[in-house]
Amino acid sequence: MQRDRCGGCGSAALEPFLDLGKTPLADAFPKTEDEPETWYPLQVTVCAKCWLVQLLEVVPDTDLFGADYGFYSSTSPSIVEAHQAYASKLFTAYGGQAKRLTVEIACNDGSLLQHFAAAGCDTLGIDPAAGPAQAARSRGLEVVTAPFTYGLADQLLDSHGPAGLILANNVLAHVADLNDFLGGVAHLLAGDGVAVFEVQYLPDLLAGNQFDHIYHEHRYFFSTTSLLPLLARHGLALQSIEHIPAQGGSIRFAVARASGIRGYWPSTGLPIPPEGYLTSMASYRAMQGRVEYLRDRLLALLAEEKAAGRKVFGYAASAKSTTLLNYCGIGTDQIERVVDTTPAKIGRFTPGTHIPIAGPGEHPDTYLLMAWNYLSGVLRREREFTAAGGKFIIPIPMPVIL
Ligand code: ZN
Repeated sequence: MQRDRCGGCGSAALEPFLDLGKTPLADAFPKTEDEPETWYPLQVTVCAKCWLVQLLEVVPDTDLFGADYGFYSSTSPSIVEAHQAYASKLFTAYGGQAKRLTVEIACNDGSLLQHFAAAGCDTLGIDPAAGPAQAARSRGLEVVTAPFTYGLADQLLDSHGPAGLILANNVLAHVADLNDFLGGVAHLLAGDGVAVFEVQYLPDLLAGNQFDHIYHEHRYFFSTTSLLPLLARHGLALQSIEHIPAQGGSIRFAVARASGIRGYWPSTGLPIPPEGYLTSMASYRAMQGRVEYLRDRLLALLAEEKAAGRKVFGYAASAKSTTLLNYCGIGTDQIERVVDTTPAKIGRFTPGTHIPIAGPGEHPDTYLLMAWNYLSGVLRREREFTAAGGKFIIPIPMPVIL
């Protein structure tokens, strides 16, 4: 279904600016090469009233987050490490709020929330994906398997009381109804409570050509320009904000009721750049040409590897790789297999492009690094491979071979 109104302000002034063709769902890895797949248009539009960037196609939640949803936070060592540091930082800033009740929306397998439970906080996790929610329960966490909505917030207020701290990392981009979701957060939040969000930061996506972050689970892309009016509509005010390198560039921000406490967030991240250019359509329209240029450069690099008789594997069957491979038209002609450590993905195929996914073992001559946002960690882990002459193609922000 295509949206005809902005998911934030409701205006009909939507201006499509980036067309990435059609792709299957980024996290739906087929079990066999000929398993039927559903393809959806992948077009991005911006609201000319509130400048919220959003996908034109709205795939229903039931299709996006079904029983087969394959992502588990704890399978990524970088995420486990980051969660420990993040929990401790949150606890320093908002320990008083956390001790009353910490609610994590989209808690996945509980890898962040467990640190709050271990510190003696009452905790409640919420996640619509059955598999990861069950994994969180097996850690002893209480989890509701449902999408977060205003209706659910109302029930939880009755059953658990108001939340001192609400965590919602990398979830705001995924929600079907932004206003219902933020209304629910405001409703569940204690008068002096704080809600902390992490979202990918649109200026980094635009400036860094990160078109592979665009897939159907990511329905919205945020800047402070589009966030401020959205929060204000629900009586929420931005208390502090931090710009961090996660996911190629993200912002973490704390909100409270406008009449509530002053938040405290010691910012150690990158500066928040001026966003004036985000209210000009030209800033968005320039992306299509850059992405097409990137695609042609990447295909040329892969063709050179093939012509020289070098074997290429993909590195990491991330959700992002689905957009990268499908948009660029990269299949088994260019890449023999994709290597990934996630047990649930090994033995499956990449969505749409049907490249076999294998566990680590044999090295190729060259990897196409599809988890480019973990570049430094990958280079550390694969020191022996590169020392022996192995190469990496880094596709984003512009393809290079290392
Ligand atoms: Zn709007």
